[in-house]
Amino acid sequence: MRIAALHPDVLVATSAFFQTTCTIVRSGNECFVIDSPVHPEELEVLPSVLQQAGFTFSGLLATHADWDHLLGRLAFADAALGCAETSAARLTAEPGAAARALRDFDDEQYVERGRPLSLGQVQALPVPGHLGVGDQEMELHPADGHTADGMAVWIGWERVLVCGDYLSPVEIPMISPGGSRSAYRATLERLAPLVEQADHVVPGHGSVLDGQRASAILREDIAYVDALPDAELPIARRGPSQRVIHDENVRRVIAT
Ligand SMILES: [Zn+2]
Repeated sequence: MRIAALHPDVLVATSAFFQTTCTIVRSGNECFVIDSPVHPEELEVLPSVLQQAGFTFSGLLATHADWDHLLGRLAFADAALGCAETSAARLTAEPGAAARALRDFDDEQYVERGRPLSLGQVQALPVPGHLGVGDQEMELHPADGHTADGMAVWIGWERVLVCGDYLSPVEIPMISPGGSRSAYRATLERLAPLVEQADHVVPGHGSVLDGQRASAILREDIAYVDALPDAELPIARRGPSQRVIHDENVRRVIAT
């Protein structure tokens, strides 16, 4: 796991698995952990990462309800998990789905964990909306289209955008079950003005981007989504696993 400080108050931990990112935001005496790393050892050290930084843990947030972003409770056992109303609805509609997906992943990768995932108390946050942290406020913006749910978090006072599974330098736009091309496109449009103001953009998977690089990916992703099903893959994201995602996108766009 890589850990980078974007600002004295914003840390990003990047998992060795899928380069899944976890963003830690502090203001005053409060600190939120957005999304999660994946491997048990990575989760295990998270509390000490906060401690060494002098951050007091307040709660967990998730950008969306895909299992690989929901593992924070394996690091902070009693924590409440805040997410968009759309994500809370998805978690209610699919009880146990994240825990099952994690079990399948662990089984496939021979990963051993001390305990199964339990999401505990899920707090549905109004999105669009605001969430106070210390003496600052984060903005919550709807970010659906990859899936049926989700939110992007704008940390305005540090000009950091945590956008969930959009604008990834390693993954092409992925239209998963529940997602749609039109919603994906609308989310990219919604993120554009935030990306323009951002010093840093933290995608759900891959390295942290500066605003300029994120803008370039945003333009590529709009072009890709618009051109489906005949889209060409962006030059830097054309490996075999991206082609598998692309084939799924094509199937989904043709079916709707
Ligand atoms: Zn993801």
